Amino acid sequence: MHELPFVESVLKITMEQTEQAKAKRVVGVNLVIGDLASMVDESVQFYWDIVSEGTIAEGAKLHFKRLPAVFQCKDCGTKYQLDGQHLACPKCGSTRVSIVGGDEARLESIEVE
Ligand SMILES: [Zn+2]
Repeated sequence: MHELPFVESVLKITMEQTEQAKAKRVVGVNLVIGDLASMVDESVQFYWDIVSEGTIAEGAKLHFKRLPAVFQCKDCGTKYQLDGQHLACPKCGSTRVSIVGGDEARLESIEVE
């Protein structure tokens, strides 16, 4: 359950930005979530509805942009996206790989009125 702390930090940033912009209402929140971040859109929305209640972000629509998992081969340096079941490097076949993308979750932008 990573969604709640994530949603809380998103709301905090949203509030700071709307205060600076003197916005009256938040209508949309754009989130970027990697495929490896273990976050379920529905859960994020569920917690968002709870924590944003009573704030100017209440009722804001969440938009999810999914990022694919990206790996890098430790042997030849090739970066590649996971295709299906094959984790091994497509160039040299090595299985010594590290995750270089797709495990992040962040707030990209907000839409205000
Ligand atoms: Zn390789």
